[in-house]
Amino acid sequence: MADKILIVEDELQLARFVELELSHEGYIVGKAGDGRTGLEMAESGEYDLVLLDIMLPELNGLEVLRRLRRSSDIPVIMLTARDAVMDKVSGLDMGANDYMTKPFAIEELLARIRAVLRQTETKAAAPEAAPAGDVLTVNGVTVDTARHTVTCNDTPIELTNREFTLLVSLMENRSIVMSRDVLLEKVWGYDYMGETNVVDVYIRYLRSKIDDVFGIHLITTVRGVGYVIK
Ligand code: CA
Repeated sequence: MADKILIVEDELQLARFVELELSHEGYIVGKAGDGRTGLEMAESGEYDLVLLDIMLPELNGLEVLRRLRRSSDIPVIMLTARDAVMDKVSGLDMGANDYMTKPFAIEELLARIRAVLRQTETKAAAPEAAPAGDVLTVNGVTVDTARHTVTCNDTPIELTNREFTLLVSLMENRSIVMSRDVLLEKVWGYDYMGETNVVDVYIRYLRSKIDDVFGIHLITTVRGVGYVIK
């Protein structure tokens, strides 16, 4: 689909010229001749990029940009008067993606537009980073710590958060016997004031949801010491 570009510019001849060139390149173009209208149109969500003049009636371009950035990250290329260094700096500080100094060669403007659109499209298309996490499998039981799921031979197992954390603690320390105290600290935290037999109670929950249902022997009791998954 063609990208839609909004021109906010009160110099009508310049706006008309840019509009014709952009249309010729296949863009769909909208125009606003003052800052207030420009802000409204830019906020509408209809456009993919804004060309924003700074010296504008109603609201100047920097003020339009400042207000626009409260709610939108639409790409903005500022159009600044020659040598208005402060305007360029302010515009970039306030979240403009690029700027052009007037008068400009239309080819350069077109190149900047393509570059800015490419950047934002790449950003939008980038897959979300995979959440950091481990997939642990023992005895047919698989725990995915990133997705917070447990399955046994591909059958999902519903665990409470506490049961899940307890199971992960044991699986991460496979073949290491975990004492009740260590498990208490890992799963319930240092400040847990209740009974230490809460560990035994939760081990029983896990066994009833995993070992008993799937007929496996996942968690081993080490008498007088604690628990281990081998
Ligand atoms: Ca102007």
